[in-house]
Amino acid sequence: MKIGVPKETIAGESRVAMTPESAVQLQKLGHECLIEKGAGMAAGFADDDYEAAGVTVVKTAASLWKEADVIAKVRVPTDAEMKRLTKDKTLISFFNPGGNAEGLELARDKGANVIAMEMVPRISRAQKMDALSSMANIAGYRAVIEAGNNFGRFFTGQVTAAGKVPPAKVLIVGAGVAGLAAIGTSVSLGAITYAFDVRPEVAEQVESMGAEFVYLDFDEDTEDGSATGGYASVQSEEFREAQLAKFREIAADMDIVITTALIPNRPAPKLWLKDMVDAMKPGSVVIDLAAEQGGNCDYTEKDEKVVTPGGVTVIGYTDFASRMATQASTLYANNVRHMLSDLTPEKDGQIVHDMDDDVIRGATVAYQGEITFPPPPPKVK
Ligand code: NAD
Repeated sequence: MKIGVPKETIAGESRVAMTPESAVQLQKLGHECLIEKGAGMAAGFADDDYEAAGVTVVKTAASLWKEADVIAKVRVPTDAEMKRLTKDKTLISFFNPGGNAEGLELARDKGANVIAMEMVPRISRAQKMDALSSMANIAGYRAVIEAGNNFGRFFTGQVTAAGKVPPAKVLIVGAGVAGLAAIGTSVSLGAITYAFDVRPEVAEQVESMGAEFVYLDFDEDTEDGSATGGYASVQSEEFREAQLAKFREIAADMDIVITTALIPNRPAPKLWLKDMVDAMKPGSVVIDLAAEQGGNCDYTEKDEKVVTPGGVTVIGYTDFASRMATQASTLYANNVRHMLSDLTPEKDGQIVHDMDDDVIRGATVAYQGEITFPPPPPKVK
């Protein structure tokens, strides 16, 4: 099959869904690779690098979409892109199926198949295709770097001839994929790092990374936030109050707060409230990774950097992965390549879209003229 990757069309998006390295692997599966001219430039991959890896560089998006049997891209396709799909073509991309009824209907009407990368089930076998985790890992790392860039002091404590410098205190709220990456980065930079999550089972992991878990004054035997698949569930009002009380107690002491709290398919819980930000010292920084879902912090404005009257910088960028486009493209292209590997069981360049396979079924949101979203729950863990 011909696997084609167009240039991303959304302004400011620097990632690309195929790298020269992933193209080599795709060719080993028997596929032919095409890329739109200049598609990898913003991520640091030149047309010449693709050509050297055996990829055909196609001059225009129109011919790329026409020639390819499978289109792989990063961002949810625009209407104009969706209209380029035709019967029996397969699209592999982030697709936001829960909020993209129009896209699903267009795919159905065109008879095209759509694999939504955010729908890859979080089961062990599918980890290599888990693009949400790849991007969250990068976002967690980059959140700490962004915080450092906006913070006027060192992370690590130092004793210098010119004076003693205290270490920064960093709190990470939510220890999922992004949170754990942020914890690792913050600890490695030498900050005193604290973390909180509603799932008590992550405390050990947090502590093994060199951070301190923030425990609540609450009988956690009666409630924890664990749900299935490593995701959190909704908390009781009492639990939330205990959490907010603990945050109020420690807010003034924190120099940097990185919030990553997410409950799937719900708006982000508000956890770092106005009075907590106001209690922080001038020059402190809040990075809200949940800005896309409404934000964990009262002051967050999506895609903006706000400085509060009390001098605290609050950042709500939603494009941290794109801000590290080379790394993000490398991991995303590998996720796509693994998906295509499962779709090509005989390594003969023939796509077998096996709807009995949990992972392929879970991620397929449109298939042969039907909308197949939402999927049935996965059978295997
Ligand atoms: P995840 O599901 O792996 O982790 C979320 C964590 O939040 C879970 O561990 C959960 O238990 C915890 N949580 C839920 N409610 C909580 C609460 N009340 N208090 C404390 N913890 C709570 O998700 P993830 O993949 O790590 O993503 C985290 C966030 O980062 C998401 O909002 C995601 O959209 C966002 N993200 C942002 C960017 C960006 O560029 N801004 C990029 C990637 C991901």
